Amino acid sequence: MNMCADEKQSAFPQDVGPDHVASTGTASAYRTAQDQLDHVAQMIGLEADLHELLRCPERELIVRFPVRMDDGAYRVFTGYRVQHNSARGPTKGGLRYHPDVTLDEVRALAMWMTWKCAVVKLPFGGAKGAITCRPKALSRTELERLTRRFTTEMSVFIGPERDIPAPDVGTDPQIMAWIMDTYSMHVGHGLPAVVTGKPVHLGGSEGRVEATGRGCLIVAREVAGRLGIELNGAKVAIQGAGNVGGIAARLFQEAGARVIAISDSSAAIYNKRGLDVAAALSHKKATGQLAGFPEAEQITNEQLLTLPCEVLLPAALENQITAENAARIQAPMIVEGANGPTDMEADEILRGRGITVVPDVLASAGGVIVSYFEWVQNLQAFFWSEEEVNRKLAEVLTASLRAVYETAAAYKTDLRMGAQILAVNRVAEATRTRGLYP
Ligand code: NAD
Repeated sequence: MNMCADEKQSAFPQDVGPDHVASTGTASAYRTAQDQLDHVAQMIGLEADLHELLRCPERELIVRFPVRMDDGAYRVFTGYRVQHNSARGPTKGGLRYHPDVTLDEVRALAMWMTWKCAVVKLPFGGAKGAITCRPKALSRTELERLTRRFTTEMSVFIGPERDIPAPDVGTDPQIMAWIMDTYSMHVGHGLPAVVTGKPVHLGGSEGRVEATGRGCLIVAREVAGRLGIELNGAKVAIQGAGNVGGIAARLFQEAGARVIAISDSSAAIYNKRGLDVAAALSHKKATGQLAGFPEAEQITNEQLLTLPCEVLLPAALENQITAENAARIQAPMIVEGANGPTDMEADEILRGRGITVVPDVLASAGGVIVSYFEWVQNLQAFFWSEEEVNRKLAEVLTASLRAVYETAAAYKTDLRMGAQILAVNRVAEATRTRGLYP
């Protein structure tokens, strides 16, 4: 396999300013993404030139920009926007604000977005963006200035027909509103379709906030049915209590499951009889963390992953399930709410142990599916009810899950490889049919 030009100097200087904290395993997320593609390419006999094309992003924007802090001084931040592949349409993917984020991590996440959009048949390619920063340490006004300046820096790169950002770790509907407003000011008129995950009163879609967590529940229910696991009363452990994990916890509980553990970056909390999810999330909202929640035992994030339960739902960051802990995981079923939570070595171990992994490109696709619905609603300036959004979300996910099972069966492989084969084949087919310009 030929290396992409930049891999020959893959230690891209991560000069990320004072906000940077040494990253752990972020380069390996990109390696994981590339290794997965190499594996698929071999399985489907992908042409070498196409393989090389898909192995690295099409376009990368790296910006360093100053932001005025509340005390009058300015600080320089580093931001990224990576567009992995646009063969199937404009690129789409979230925007992450996190102190450890690096270019390699964004590249991995952008590649996974290409596969995710293809698996669920959205007319989008994959992208991802990030700013290396600690959003919790910034005031609201600093966060607004950071976001507006980054939007200006990215404005040559994004657009409703070009590349459409959305929320991810550390970003939320308010940040999407600032992006929409800044971009609209630049073009001279309101353009809500430039970003998704906006507040509903600004052209956001009903059901978007819950979409990723709801998608996790939809696929978990389908897969549990196939495995003969009764979700009603099932014990569920969730890593992460943000947009994906927190909402999934609420929805799994509403569906009759027992959420026995949930974590954030402060701690994991555990109650073997089942947590009061609403009370735990209220405690987090009031104090900023799950640690200290009174009606539970405090355990580590590592312990959470290996608890006896029916469903394990990683919904935080990449590379959480590794060769270190995969042999100790007790859940028969892992639903990947996060992007890239399992590395390849762990995947191999889990496969050998007969544990079913519902891969991220499918399990966490609910967010981008409803983002697509939001974009469509913005373009047609006509809005759907929450019921309609949720019904269409379930239709897309269940049809995609069926296609993934069929592909996995045809290639005698697992769901991750089934999903990746389906996705890579769709992107490859689009690329071949479009032909080469000039
Ligand atoms: P978020 O910022 O809302 O929440 C992240 C959560 O993870 C927080 O509770 C945080 O405290 C916790 N966390 C961070 N580091 C942790 C650690 N080391 N151990 C345990 N918990 C930790 O982010 P989110 O939007 O919920 O995204 C979570 C994951 O889901 C990411 O991988 C993201 O890419 C993926 N995802 C998000 C969406 C979406 O629509 N927001 C869609 C698809 C996939």
